[in-house]
Amino acid sequence: MYGSLKEECGVFGIYSDKLDNAKLTMYGLFAMQHRGQESAGIASTDGYGISSHKEMGLVSSVFADERNLEKLKGNIAIGHVRYSTTGASGVINAQPLVIRHSKGDLAIAHNGNLVNTDSIKEKLEKQGSIFQTSNDTEVILHLVARSLKDAIEDSILDALSQVKGAYSILFMTNNKLIAVRDPLGMRPLVLGKKGDSYIFASETPALDLVGAEYIREVEPGEMIIIDKNGMDAKKVFHRERTAKCIFELIYFGRPDSNLFSRNVHLLRKEVGRQLARENKIDADLVIPVPDSGVSSALGYAEESGIPYEFGIMRNHYVGRTFIQPNQLDRELGVKKKLSPIPDVIRGKRIVVVDDSIVRGTTSRKIVKLLKKAGAKEIHLLIAAPPVTFPCYYGIDLPTRKELIAATHTLEEIRKYILADSLAYLSIEGLHKAVKAEKNEFCDACFTGNYPVKFTK
Ligand code: SF4
Repeated sequence: MYGSLKEECGVFGIYSDKLDNAKLTMYGLFAMQHRGQESAGIASTDGYGISSHKEMGLVSSVFADERNLEKLKGNIAIGHVRYSTTGASGVINAQPLVIRHSKGDLAIAHNGNLVNTDSIKEKLEKQGSIFQTSNDTEVILHLVARSLKDAIEDSILDALSQVKGAYSILFMTNNKLIAVRDPLGMRPLVLGKKGDSYIFASETPALDLVGAEYIREVEPGEMIIIDKNGMDAKKVFHRERTAKCIFELIYFGRPDSNLFSRNVHLLRKEVGRQLARENKIDADLVIPVPDSGVSSALGYAEESGIPYEFGIMRNHYVGRTFIQPNQLDRELGVKKKLSPIPDVIRGKRIVVVDDSIVRGTTSRKIVKLLKKAGAKEIHLLIAAPPVTFPCYYGIDLPTRKELIAATHTLEEIRKYILADSLAYLSIEGLHKAVKAEKNEFCDACFTGNYPVKFTK
């Protein structure tokens, strides 16, 4: 499946004694463009106030005009790429959000989704609060501003102890960079260093691109404060378990990412191997659905001994596809983006490895394309269990009734997508392949076992 599911956001933050941090932040965001293509923004401070620039569009276009970066001088900067799952699409909801309040200036960049902000927002509005945006991140700013604590880090803690859900957040004041990860560690956040600079990023390729060294993950429930005195890390929320999003590993993360202390490419290869152990198929070729099926197809081919080939090409230059308001657009989108190589697949019995089936529309189009190009048999293998439940923690999965695996049997799905056979990875196989420890991951979209109650 290419691009049907959307991650909510990516964040990047840097503290150093240099004044060109906005440019490094731009490159960091560039490396995480896959996490959000709707808007991009950077806020920076030179100690005397926060400047920011944000617009709809890709990082390369938002900062194409150098003047947008030049105005962002300062030794601390935070940045954000966004795809909206809460709040309408529009620059008003783009991040970082910046406010001035009684404790000074504050900017925030948030990856994740909160599950109890509707009720908090309603209460605050009744008490006179005025909200500028429709995203859940602004609720945190209101709670920080209303906190009676003196120190900003205490006010942040006060605010975060009232919200529930997934968050990896960067806060910036005129002299501090503060990172906090939710108690269950649902969204990733890593810490790196480049010389004397401290850097936070959602994924490690952002560190690699700016030449920073990976230090460690920000721990679930941890707050890390960087200021002129250096780094101060403390565990501020304690839970018995974690609930890292397993979908980050099998779908969203870049293959060169070290997510949740695992390399994404190698992990997906292991998922492919497990898929081969569970599903032995008599076939001539294994081909991936690019790009996210590539690593698991390689693992499947290695384990099964069936030759690996590129049978489908992906056009990387098609414009953004997240605006797909109806079925027709979605179907055309597949053809624009994926094309088969008939000379590779003609007359062959083919194992096609993909990473998920959501609505089924894309899989059906792919099978049709391959059959039209001459494939003799198509055996579709999915390197994940069936997605049967929606996500409330920042991944844009559709409602249950739109999820084909929630409403149809395996055989009904196979018939709909026109494949000769169809199989998914088992949930046990997934846990085994990712070497999941007990209560380490959230897998609610496969099992319905939600780790945080959804109250809104
Ligand atoms: Fe990730 Fe699925 Fe859990 Fe959402 S429900 S956080 S997509 S594992």
